[in-house]
Amino acid sequence: MKLKDVLKPLRKMAPESTAEAWDNVGLQIGDKEQIINKALLTVDITDSCLEEAREKGCELIISHHPLIFKPLKNLTTSDYIPRLVSKAIKQGLAIYAMHTNLDLAEKGVNRALGDVLGLKRGRGLVPSGYKEYVKLITFVPITEIASIREALWTQEAGFIGNYDHCAFETIGTGRFRPLKGTNPYLGTIGKDEEVEEIRLETIINKEKYLDLIEQIKKIHPYEEPVIDVYPLAYPKESRYLGEFINLETPVNLEILLNRWGKKALFYGSKDEFKRIAILGGSGSIGVEFALKNKSDLFITGELDYHELIQAREEGLSILLLGHGASEAPVLNNLLEIMPIEAQIAAKPYLVTL
Ligand SMILES: [Zn+2]
Repeated sequence: MKLKDVLKPLRKMAPESTAEAWDNVGLQIGDKEQIINKALLTVDITDSCLEEAREKGCELIISHHPLIFKPLKNLTTSDYIPRLVSKAIKQGLAIYAMHTNLDLAEKGVNRALGDVLGLKRGRGLVPSGYKEYVKLITFVPITEIASIREALWTQEAGFIGNYDHCAFETIGTGRFRPLKGTNPYLGTIGKDEEVEEIRLETIINKEKYLDLIEQIKKIHPYEEPVIDVYPLAYPKESRYLGEFINLETPVNLEILLNRWGKKALFYGSKDEFKRIAILGGSGSIGVEFALKNKSDLFITGELDYHELIQAREEGLSILLLGHGASEAPVLNNLLEIMPIEAQIAAKPYLVTL
């Protein structure tokens, strides 16, 4: 399968446009037309990971942490990152990074961690921008309306709260005159035409409307379909990193540790928790919001010494799982949507607690 097609479900799950401005996500090495048979999924790209890709015949590595993050000054073998980059290029590997866009995704890093710990979905923890919508309008001959509607729903247009398939349709008259060189669906070249059309309007997430336009163009019977897109002042749904989970019945520390099943560091004096904040990877930005939500436990990958002191002083218990380890559960969610053969690296992260 061509690389660009392999990446489609991944881009749908975590659009690159949702990554933080300082981040560097997306295709880092490779050619979107190259053929990929097998992929390796990892948190970090390391020597052992490149070696494993070579041994297993993988042409693509999908990583959570971007291999190329800071601008590269050289591609020599004496520096760590440049050496890995040149090694990957020599191997003919494609490399695709899903970082903060995967942190923010609905089935991303934080939900995957929550699932492993057996914690139900909570509300957002750290506000991080907005999810914006656009109004999309197209004009369709009545006979073709069903197929266009279907395209809207499959591209996730028409969601308002807990309603889907939301649209508004009005019947009107479309006018046009096909000029020389056209191949009109109906009408005669050089003659004014009138046709009964439906004006079909719906809303769609701002990050997804370009894909929808592409899809409509593919199936719309007209050579030049009219598709209007208007920005909407609202609704704007807040987007969050991490989750705050308020349990009905408290959970015991031992149960959480058993579900986790790997090394963990606990700082605290209680052993039952009801108000739990989770944030995979580095938890620095989460402490303040865990406290604001009156959490009694904050589960994260890592914290620095001073943040730990602050949390403990304010009565917040802390459970550290290790940076890479706390992010690795999301690889299972990626594996589920891979359209080609894929597997998780033997060592998706090297540094453990
Ligand atoms: Zn991370």
